[in-house]
Amino acid sequence: MLINLSDFFLYDGMKKEIHKSILFDSIQFDGDLYEVVDPIKLKITILHRGNREINLNGSIETTLVIPCHRCAEPVNYPLKADFSKEVAFHSSEFKDISYMDGYNLDLEKLVFNELIIAFPMKVLCHESCKGICKHCGKNLNDGPCECQNDDIDPRLAVLKDLFKEE
Ligand SMILES: [Zn+2]
Ligand SMILES: [Zn+2]
Repeated sequence: MLINLSDFFLYDGMKKEIHKSILFDSIQFDGDLYEVVDPIKLKITILHRGNREINLNGSIETTLVIPCHRCAEPVNYPLKADFSKEVAFHSSEFKDISYMDGYNLDLEKLVFNELIIAFPMKVLCHESCKGICKHCGKNLNDGPCECQNDDIDPRLAVLKDLFKEE
């Protein structure tokens, strides 16, 4: 959906609030595809501050499916993010803004832009997720695996050496 922002130049303080649901099946981030479960709820207030400067303030809200950082099980991740932007039409820089198409604001592109900014670095299915065994690949949240655990924490290894000396 395109919104012509030059319509707001009519007078200083001209303002409009838009609520819209935008459907994305999935988004691509860093080479991976992530399912978007809920339509993305966009709230945006467009304000002409004066001097052909437009403020865009609002929020996006949705749920993404992101694999757990440790065990790779899919996690429904609720994402909510606020944004605050300004577009100054008296400089030509607005032509380089990804969500601007001439004088038109492209709501889908704006939402995509904000999703990417708000995308979480690491998602865990649970704070205490045990991850997967690096030998057999078993999800250790389902119980211990059959592997012999020869890995000793380096801190414990130091203690072991100390005991040896005594
Ligand atoms: Zn996990
Ligand atoms: Zn194992």
